[in-house]
Amino acid sequence: MANWTDETRIALDNMRDSVTGLFVPTIRLGVTGLSRAGKTVFITSMIQNLIEGDNLSLFAPLAEGRLIGAQLSPHPNAAMPRFAYEEHLKALKGEDRHWPQSTRQISQVRLTLKFQPDHWATAWAGPREVHLDIVDYPGEWLLDLPLLDKSYREWSDDALQKAHAPARANIAEEWLNLTLKADAAAPLDEELATRLSNAFKAYLQACRADEHALSALPPGRFLMPGDMDGSPALTFAPLPAPEATPKSDSLYAQMERRYEAYKNIVVRPFFRDHFARLDRQIILVDALTALNAGSDAVTDLEKALSEILTCFKTGNNPLWTRFFSTHIDKILFAATKADHMPHTNHDRLGEVLGLLVKGARQRAHYQGAETQSMALAAIRATHEGEVEHEGKMLKTIIGTPQKDESLGDKTYDGKSEIALYPGNLPENPDSIFEDEQSYKGKLKFLRFRPPVLDNAARQKSGLPHIRLDRALDFLLGDKLQ
Ligand code: GDP
Repeated sequence: MANWTDETRIALDNMRDSVTGLFVPTIRLGVTGLSRAGKTVFITSMIQNLIEGDNLSLFAPLAEGRLIGAQLSPHPNAAMPRFAYEEHLKALKGEDRHWPQSTRQISQVRLTLKFQPDHWATAWAGPREVHLDIVDYPGEWLLDLPLLDKSYREWSDDALQKAHAPARANIAEEWLNLTLKADAAAPLDEELATRLSNAFKAYLQACRADEHALSALPPGRFLMPGDMDGSPALTFAPLPAPEATPKSDSLYAQMERRYEAYKNIVVRPFFRDHFARLDRQIILVDALTALNAGSDAVTDLEKALSEILTCFKTGNNPLWTRFFSTHIDKILFAATKADHMPHTNHDRLGEVLGLLVKGARQRAHYQGAETQSMALAAIRATHEGEVEHEGKMLKTIIGTPQKDESLGDKTYDGKSEIALYPGNLPENPDSIFEDEQSYKGKLKFLRFRPPVLDNAARQKSGLPHIRLDRALDFLLGDKLQ
């Protein structure tokens, strides 16, 4: 449970930030999504496009000529890692262009935007500045909030029950067998505890592999340990409760203690120090990979999103949510990598995502946050073409597939462009939840290399994208009025 110390600390830190920011207002934008959803690519492209300012025609402050400039500012928080913007941009724009290193832990970067307000009450005073603090954090960490309200026994029962679900049972087999053999009432055997924990982590990781594309289960740090990899607070696993009350030196009691430590050392500080301070949030979702893996993956993604979104509810909610509730007033859901489909599918992709978050979105809306969903590509790695097939013209996408050693001889050379017909998303987005109409394997995706940039584009001008400007307009447009 949160306590008054947490509350006071949030208030004091907010006050300190206002003072050190020399009264320049600050917008804290959270960028999250499950692993490989596209957070790093999104933030890099967003910063680069805001700085270059020539490729965001639907971002109203720019279109109206009011955004005077954007520049990186000194890092405001010594205790927080800085988002490695320069390194990521170099990866994308260098001779050997490649995708940057994905998000592994929380990081932050500060941009300062200078703009001319257009509101009658403020326009007379001339140009103003606002700090934009972009906070990148793994979506897996949000899955941990409900743990604050769950005992070890409840969490264990839940995890064991989920592992028996048809989509997961095979993947969980090895860990479940080990768990069945373990005597939870016996004194702690450190080696067994580590084996159980590793097997549980391996099961969670396997669920996330592309062929299953099942979404995450808590604890979030088991998938994205950040700087806590190997720490004892991360060495536990669910166990069935023994019939008699377990002794304090038993495997069960020790696992329970580590679970509680995880909540105190890892979960609470994240929500208190970072999450509770966000103003705006974008949630990136790789819906295409889930669609390609089939309806189990889609249903599972829907569940994970719903759990993630519990964190954004405020008001008449359980106590843990209220204490760590945010004042986020706008949430954007974005289906990423839209450049894997021709433009005729972009609206459909946005609708599919809209359906996936429908329930959760209504709840957030009810609580006062404005929400929207759309499809985007933070970096457009493909262009479009057409091929004739059996008398019909099919829309294709053209790009350079990444070299993939695991394909052996069938690998692409990483240099030549190919045209790919990726299939089409259903006209009726509801059908993605129906088993018989599963899209498993019907869509074809490849991992394309980042786009080739000509010399002029490499030097200057914003990276190519799809609808990044619309996303920025929703997230920031009103703050620059
Ligand atoms: P993170 O784990 O959320 O930080 O994910 P990343 O931003 O590192 O993205 C993971 C991978 O998705 C990248 O390495 C790219 O292969 C791919 N990706 C992300 N964004 C885009 C995009 O806009 N277009 C394309 N074609 N691929 C993308």
